[in-house]
Amino acid sequence: MNYDLQALMERWDGLAVVCRYDHPTQTWVFICMHDNTLGPCMGGTRIKVYSKPGEGLLDAMRLAEGMTNKWAAIDVAAGGGKAVLAVERPLEGEERRGLLLRYGRLIQTLGGGFRTGEDMGTSSEDMQVIAEVADYVHGFHPEEGTKIDPSPFTARAVFAGIQSAAAQVLEGEPLRGRTVLIQGVGSVGANLGLFLKEAGAELLVSDIDEPRCRRVADQLEAKFVPDSEVYATPCDVYAPCAVGATLNPETIPQLQCRIVAGSANNQLATPADAMRLLERGIVYVPDYIINAGGALAFSFLDKKFGNTDDLLEKMDVIGVSVTEILQEAASKSESPVVAAQHRVDRTLAKART
Ligand code: NAD
Repeated sequence: MNYDLQALMERWDGLAVVCRYDHPTQTWVFICMHDNTLGPCMGGTRIKVYSKPGEGLLDAMRLAEGMTNKWAAIDVAAGGGKAVLAVERPLEGEERRGLLLRYGRLIQTLGGGFRTGEDMGTSSEDMQVIAEVADYVHGFHPEEGTKIDPSPFTARAVFAGIQSAAAQVLEGEPLRGRTVLIQGVGSVGANLGLFLKEAGAELLVSDIDEPRCRRVADQLEAKFVPDSEVYATPCDVYAPCAVGATLNPETIPQLQCRIVAGSANNQLATPADAMRLLERGIVYVPDYIINAGGALAFSFLDKKFGNTDDLLEKMDVIGVSVTEILQEAASKSESPVVAAQHRVDRTLAKART
């Protein structure tokens, strides 16, 4: 892979990259704005140590493009963007604060063309530092300065997506009495369990942290599934809410479910795994659509959408997107991954004309 900055810029078809070298901390700052057809570019800020600055730029470019797809697929008036602060070493205290303030001033000069929130390696405390000098920052309550946890919103959107998929694939009442296996009962998985329990689903839970899993299983009246048995356990819905790449040539043949729908990022180990699922008759809800609840909630919070219950209900739009994508995929006998990409392309093409 060629990580030369010039080569990366020549290959990219995005809107613009704002690039700055922060001398006091030897940090490369890359703000990638991929596409603003639908609205201002919006995406998280990642702080990470990379072996080369170009690796950080490539990461930001790919993630920004992913955000364009995410927003377009769920019909949100936002464009794709992402920022990477490629640090030489982990930064703490005044050094970190100084970098964040300088980065914040840079965001402010873009006048709202790029809006950001926390991502891997950043926290809501970091966002509050940036917000001292920039207006376009999400992830904490603007008046009270308290952290907003995206997980309940993500969980609610995943629940809405599972409901939609179940309504289409399973006969009868969509969720009552249906078995849903949640892999990973952390912030999203445990919240998802609460929504599913209320809807009358039978829950199975699994997690590499067994004590935590048994605690959550008690709360949800769920059955504990050992980590080693998770893929071969019969269920109606498998909800991966832990790590990526759990759908691969080794696990897909073992699956005994009708639907895969969960919050984890990058669930498919490779694009070919979408076809493997289709061939097995398993309906896969693309991860970047069903896990968009947290990002969607933050986009509403910017408009001072204060009430949490109202905001949770807003997550149901993701269920609508899932229904439309699965219907299109079924009518053309194609993978929902393909149908979702067609939807993204159509939405962007329509907005451009
Ligand atoms: P979390 O860290 O709170 O929970 C993850 C859980 O998965 C933990 O309980 C952990 O013990 C378990 N786990 C880790 N590796 C595992 C493995 N190999 N097998 C089984 N269990 C394993 O994370 P979270 O915030 O709940 O996020 C869960 C997933 O959803 C992540 O992939 C995350 O990137 C994605 N996601 C989260 C959000 C959000 O709002 N938090 C938004 C979009 C996507």
